[in-house]
Amino acid sequence: MVFADAHCHLGSRQFDSYREEMITRMLNAGVNKPIMICCSSHDLLESLRLREEHPAFKLAVSVHPQDLEDDYSEARLQEIERIINEYHPDMIGETGLDYYSHPHTREQQKHFFISQLELAEKYGLPVNIHSRKASADTLDILKSHRCKGIMHSYSGSIEMARLYIREGYCISFGASVLFPNARRPREVASQIPLDRLLIETDSPYQSPVLNHRHEPADVVNIYEEISKIHGISLEELCAAVEHNFDNVFAK
Ligand SMILES: [Zn+2]
Repeated sequence: MVFADAHCHLGSRQFDSYREEMITRMLNAGVNKPIMICCSSHDLLESLRLREEHPAFKLAVSVHPQDLEDDYSEARLQEIERIINEYHPDMIGETGLDYYSHPHTREQQKHFFISQLELAEKYGLPVNIHSRKASADTLDILKSHRCKGIMHSYSGSIEMARLYIREGYCISFGASVLFPNARRPREVASQIPLDRLLIETDSPYQSPVLNHRHEPADVVNIYEEISKIHGISLEELCAAVEHNFDNVFAK
């Protein structure tokens, strides 16, 4: 079985002291299709090294919506375009809007989101979308661009998910479905059509287990839970998710 992880930060500093062990555990678990999200030059450098060794690992680059406090100059967007031309990433992301953690940088976030969608259109790249407490604006902006991609760590309603699906997006679930009181995420996940479903860890973040740093190998637990939610075998779920994963990157 192949497990895809549709969103993880393998280049994160948090993995610096044990990146090789983390990658070994991941590959041993069958997790060999990750999307490596890079929102800093450190993460990009580490992820480029990983891609050299593992050409199937997908590379995504962006300016993160939570990272527009101090520097929101156009130079940062030009740098993303330079990276696209020099390193040929597979995806733009994560990009989007976070009105939950950073309500005060709304306007900057919108500008960077729109500009990065324009880059995605220009270079024919899919996008990995971060949206928190900003679904109306996110949808509005996505509607006016011809992109496709992934709604990362989805926590919204089923109605909203259907609208994103209509715009050509897959809906990706993380460890939120594992929490004992996670009635809503499980309910929403159960209604996402199998041909639009993706699964991710967002590691090293979003660990469902106290005092354990999340890593891609843990994605298997999320697959197991979602296979129960959908009432299908793990094999069937892996095949469906892998197909959706490949589809996102199909030209
Ligand atoms: Zn992330």
